Formats: sequence, structure tokens, C-alpha cells
Amino acid sequence: MNDLAPLDVTSDRPSADTLRSLIVDLGDIPIVTDSTIVRRRSRDFFWYSPILNDQLNGKSADLIVAPRDEADVVRVAAACARHRVPLTVRAGGTGNYGQAVPLAGGVLLDITALDTIEWIKPGQIRVGAGAKMNAIDAATQPMGYELRMHPSTKRTATIGGFVAGGSGGIGSITYGGLRERGNILAARIVTMEPEPRIIELRGDAAQKINRAYGTTGIITALEMPLAPAWPWIDVVVAFDDFTAAVEFGHAAALADGIVKKLLAPITWPLPSYFGALKSCCPEGKSILIAMIAEPSLESFRDLLGGRGTMTLETPTDDGPGKVPLYEYTWNHTTLQVLKSDRTVTYLQCLYPHDRLPQKVEEMRTMFPREVLQHLEFIRFNGQVTCSGLPVVRYSSPERLNEIIRLHEAHEVYIANPHVYTVEDGSRYKRVDVDQLGFKHEVDPCGLLNPGKMRSFIPER
Ligand code: FAD
Repeated sequence: MNDLAPLDVTSDRPSADTLRSLIVDLGDIPIVTDSTIVRRRSRDFFWYSPILNDQLNGKSADLIVAPRDEADVVRVAAACARHRVPLTVRAGGTGNYGQAVPLAGGVLLDITALDTIEWIKPGQIRVGAGAKMNAIDAATQPMGYELRMHPSTKRTATIGGFVAGGSGGIGSITYGGLRERGNILAARIVTMEPEPRIIELRGDAAQKINRAYGTTGIITALEMPLAPAWPWIDVVVAFDDFTAAVEFGHAAALADGIVKKLLAPITWPLPSYFGALKSCCPEGKSILIAMIAEPSLESFRDLLGGRGTMTLETPTDDGPGKVPLYEYTWNHTTLQVLKSDRTVTYLQCLYPHDRLPQKVEEMRTMFPREVLQHLEFIRFNGQVTCSGLPVVRYSSPERLNEIIRLHEAHEVYIANPHVYTVEDGSRYKRVDVDQLGFKHEVDPCGLLNPGKMRSFIPER
């Protein structure tokens, strides 16, 4: 292969000779070549989508490389760039759209050993990208701080995976998503070149690696803003119908004096799938799942009045061996259903903030049994609105695309979770920075997670 030739995802996989030379160059950096392990760890949660399941099943890296520190990451990047071997970063492996699935083989870079906390200051932390989010909160909470937001996979996912692959979650009702200015303070990255550079991206520049699926640099460290750590109370409220759950959730979302971290209306029959939570989910009732700061609980109850019935009120506990309430929200709602019904899938929607109740009602009545409503109240561009993660009864790709089209025709925007490219999947979840231009600077041959940034054409 010519040194400057671009990588073709469809046909170019590294040859056995190339891989052997690469391994020699990696020296004492730990690697795994057992194909069963490599294949298993090349997967993420793409199987939520029957469409991606067909496309990505069987895709695998050739080997796993596990750097012990940033110096190892630089050596791996240099060796991969020299031998023109693709490299896909894998952290917790909880991504949903095959984000961490290597399409062209090569190296799966296990980044999880880079988990050192460099420092914690009031309202700020600097930490290795491989640190798990629950470990970060455990370290900062004794000082009165915690991450501003986390995905419902907080107990297994890393901060680097969240920034590179996620969008928001528990906490986004107060702070918006990762794409909002100020929610990522800085990122340190290693470039994919024969002589890799280490670049510190600060402020707005840090957004160049946000939700780019690891195509714009290997993140080794992050500086993240922190929020006050309140004593949180897990709450479930049951309502006679979904509309009442949404109306109350909206009122609570707009009540600025009530400190909250989560407000998730979920329609019946979805709570009937909620295993250990079933005793808090009365037959036929839609629910609102909430996390409320303990000092705000009384005001929350006052706001509720007689509109619904509180069926759970207990301090949040996401310690070892516990299943926290937030593991019934965000994309865990879908997972709870998938545990007993593999015929469903899901969508990711953004509702317009200025017509929220009307649009929620339109979608609910348009697909009464096929699209089962689950909303998450969030702030988006400074406005309170809802992200929808409805559970969809799947029949065919054509029907799924029709459901997506009908949402968009009604101004409910979709970040399609049934595609694996950054451009097609992320839509409203991405920030408006020139990630494509940046990729040309840091990965000119397109070796980082090849095939995921569709608009990138490698330099010739
Ligand atoms: P991985 O899955 O390992 O990686 C994700 C992407 O980031 C991949 O493209 C990978 O290549 C890249 N990457 C990882 N680390 C680095 C790095 N250091 N440098 C460069 N690239 C890197 N997401 C949300 O945003 N909110 C939610 O509430 C949410 N809930 C979920 C619930 C369930 C049940 C599941 C299965 C998924 C959910 N997700 C959610 C998606 C996912 O869990 C999160 O985005 C999570 O933060 C990903 O972290 P991870 O460590 O598992 O990353």
C-alpha cells in the first residue's frame, strides 16, 4: 500500500504481516489477540436496533491494545499511523449505535487504564478519559460536588466515552446537554500521525471531540465542570394518564425553585416491564420518575397536590450492588423492556419547546400502540423541552423510517439511532463546530474509527 493512500473501509483490513510488524513496534504494551475476546469486546449496544444488528453483527477488531498511560497511547498512535492500521477507542462499551465497533478491523484501544484524577477544585475536575463516572462522583461528592450530568449507564461508562459518544442525561434538566457551552471545559488529545502531537483543546475548542465517536483524536484527559452534590431523593409518582404525568413533569421542570436532576414521564404499559420497581407502578397508571434535592421535596409535593400519587420516596443509592432509580430512565427504559421483549426498538426525539404539550399529544395519538411514549425533560439552548426516547414496536425498516418521517413532518426532530455515522445519527445532539476540518488536521489518513464520519474524505 502506498504510504499516502487513504484507507478504504470496505476493502482495506490490515494484513497478517502488517499486524505482526505493528505488534513488534508495540513492545511491552499489553495486547489481547484471542479472537473470541476481541470479537466480544468489539461490540456495543448496537443490537437495540434491528437494522444495525444486521449491519454490524460480526464486525471485529484484529487485536485489543491496552495502554497503561498517555505515553503508551502516543506509541500506539504512532505505530498505527506508520503501519496504516485503523484504531477504534473502546471505553465502557455502552454506546448504542455501534460507535465503538471497528468497521475495518485493526486495533481496539482499551482506554480504561487512563483513569487517574489529576486534581479536583471547587466546581471543576481534571481526570483521565478512562475514569468511570461513578468513580468520579465518589471522589468529588465528599467535597460537596458531583458531575453536572451523567448517562443512565453511569455505573459502567467512562467520562471519555460520554464526551465522545453521549449527549446528556441525568442532570440535563438543569444544565442542558454536553453540547451546551461550558459543559466540557477542556480536553487533551493525541493525534493520529506517525509523530503524534498532544493537543490541549480549551473552552469552545473542546467541542471538537464532543460526540465525534473518537474520529477526531484519542482523548486522554478531560476537564469537566461540577455541580453541587445534593442529597437526592428518588421519587415515583403515578398518574391516571400519560398526559397528566407530562403536565405535572412540565410544571416541575419550569419550577426554578425546585432543585431536580431527573423528570421522566413514562406511559403505561412500559412500567409493567420494570422488574424490581413494579411494586411502585400501579396497574394501568403512567408514571413520572424524578430525582429531587431533599430540601425541595416539600415544594415538589405542594406542586403535585392531588394530581398524582407518590409511590416511592427514598434516598438515591447507586452504590455497589444497588440498582438506582435512574436505571429505569433515559435509554435504560428501553433496556428494561428489551429484557423480556426483543421485538421492540426505540427512537430519539427532540420536541419543540414552544409547542411541547401539543406535539406530545399529537405523537401520542398518532401511534397509540406502536410508539409507547417515554420523555425526559431537559434544557436545550436555554429552553425547557423534552427529549423523547419512545419504545417502538418494530415491524420493518420501511415502517420505522415512515415513523421517523411522520415525526419530522410534525416538527419533532429525530437523532436516528439506527445508523452508525456521526452525521446521520447525531443531528440536534451535535455542537456547531468544524469537526470535519479538525479531523483533517489530526487524522489526515482517516485511521480513527474509520467509516463513522461519513463526510470525511482522506487526503491523497
Ligand atoms: P464507549 O461505548 O466505549 O464509546 C463511545 C464512543 O466514544 C465510541 O465511538 C468510542 O470510540 C468513543 N470513545 C470512548 N472513549 C474515547 C476516548 N478516550 N477518546 C476518543 N474516543 C473515545 N448516552 C447518553 O448520552 N445518555 C444516556 O442517558 C444514556 N443512557 C444509556 C442507557 C443504556 C442502557 C445504554 C446501553 C446506553 C446509554 N447511553 C446513554 C449511551 C452510552 O452509555 C453513553 O454515551 C456512555 O457515556 C458511553 O460511555 P462508554 O465509556 O461506554 O463509551
